[in-house]
Amino acid sequence: MLKVQILDRCTYCKGQALLPMGQADNWKGEVYTVYGKCPICEGTGESSRWVSLPDFLEILKAALCKHEHTSYRGGMHFIAGDVWDDIEEVCDDCGENLDRQTLGDFIQDDN
Ligand SMILES: [Zn+2]
Ligand SMILES: [Zn+2]
Repeated sequence: MLKVQILDRCTYCKGQALLPMGQADNWKGEVYTVYGKCPICEGTGESSRWVSLPDFLEILKAALCKHEHTSYRGGMHFIAGDVWDDIEEVCDDCGENLDRQTLGDFIQDDN
């Protein structure tokens, strides 16, 4: 089987580069989450992997997709007084997570 190597988002940290490593107290005694570099991609948010040609074509399709039809998934969550959401915009045509791509682009621009 012919395979090609691509640089993709790290699947371990989902391209976030940083992962919650645990919790610590600050000087006020407030608990906060400590983030550290992803051990798999070493904080780059990217990892190389080998994909088969059919998979590569799917990735190309996603890369060329204009994401004209999108829908939102996820919702708001209330946990221990904290409010957060995992609402993501996902392309109906290629399945690309558009929120995550925007974050990845932002990190790359920062370098
Ligand atoms: Zn990673
Ligand atoms: Zn798309």
